[in-house]
Amino acid sequence: MANNLLRLFLESNLANLKKNGLYNEIDTVYGANGPMITIGNKSFINLSSNNYLGLATDPRLKKVAQEAIGSHGLGSGAVRTINGTLDLHDKLENKLAEFKGTEAAIAYQSGFNCNMAAISAVMDKHDVIFSDALNHASIIDGCRLSKATIIRYEHSDMDDLRKKAKQAISLGKYKKMMIITDGVFSMDGDIAKLPDIVDIAEELNLITYVDDAHGSGVTGNGYGTVKQFGLEEKIDFQIGTLSKAIGVVGGYVAGKKVLIDWLKARSRPFLFSTALSPADIAASIKAIELLMDSKELNQALWENGNYLKHGLVKLGFNIGKSETPITPCIIGDEKVTQLFSNRLYDEGVYAKSIVFPTVPKGTGRIRNMPTSAHTKEMLDRTLAAYEKVGREMGLI
Ligand code: PMP
Repeated sequence: MANNLLRLFLESNLANLKKNGLYNEIDTVYGANGPMITIGNKSFINLSSNNYLGLATDPRLKKVAQEAIGSHGLGSGAVRTINGTLDLHDKLENKLAEFKGTEAAIAYQSGFNCNMAAISAVMDKHDVIFSDALNHASIIDGCRLSKATIIRYEHSDMDDLRKKAKQAISLGKYKKMMIITDGVFSMDGDIAKLPDIVDIAEELNLITYVDDAHGSGVTGNGYGTVKQFGLEEKIDFQIGTLSKAIGVVGGYVAGKKVLIDWLKARSRPFLFSTALSPADIAASIKAIELLMDSKELNQALWENGNYLKHGLVKLGFNIGKSETPITPCIIGDEKVTQLFSNRLYDEGVYAKSIVFPTVPKGTGRIRNMPTSAHTKEMLDRTLAAYEKVGREMGLI
């Protein structure tokens, strides 16, 4: 490395991470990322992916992706405002608007990019954002990028939100004000109190922004959390990702046409980064069509989620307050959680431990992500592994 200071910085910080158990060794998955995966030369039941509907390996999506490569090539060629908007981009955005029940939609290269793009395109240093304490990192970064004042409210605590919003308003110094929340919280699987949030927003004249990355394809019969509560007309920004239930990659905002026109004119990842590829777009369109045409995959997802949850509760595990198929198994102590996850791994179950700082200290957990593609036999084997390791470690 040319620069010595940089080398010292990197080496000492990496050593520190490793010493404190905060360095994540990344496993390589060989072949398809489905309900079973191969790591090294061993096969595992995969409970760690967001591929909720199994669409990441669906032959119908693969077929249209291959056809799109044939007709449109591999890359979209340029940023969209210059020469990179393909007919497929327009088709995807129309489909997303239909899916989300809005006038229009804009697609981005990822869900992460989408939050960086959308928040900073409308909020600035004269504004204030009220952000749920458990919001996703991309929301936090998007808020920071906007330079707005950020006020965190306690997770899903509507009294705290109302109190903090009123306090901020009483200062009389902010122009626009926005509430931002995940639709489904990915570490606990609980659902945001959107009807209350809308009430507060209407009472205090706040903009509403819901990132439903984990809700789309899952809640509201697959249409998402905003639809579940019938709030399509009341939420200004509906954010989603194409990388989880949709099974591909990309992110989007759905909302009024005037909002989407503004984001197309002013959001920087749209203006300065090459757009989604034809294969990704074609597969995403197909996934949304499948979701809208049939409830089968969504029902299978919920059935599997409920099966796993009931099984874990019956064994005596604490699954927290999950309201969705996301199934945390809360162990508590960080080291015990990691050991538990390692033992599940030995037993052929790939379910990652989530510990501080991703979740509060002392609430370490194994996060299980059942999908529609898991079979009952896979879930039974998972439960058997939980029982064996749980007893062995004296946790049940
Ligand atoms: N928002 C939320 C709430 C998420 O959970 C995630 C994914 N971890 C993202 C955004 C980012 O989405 P993507 O992976 O498509 O960048």
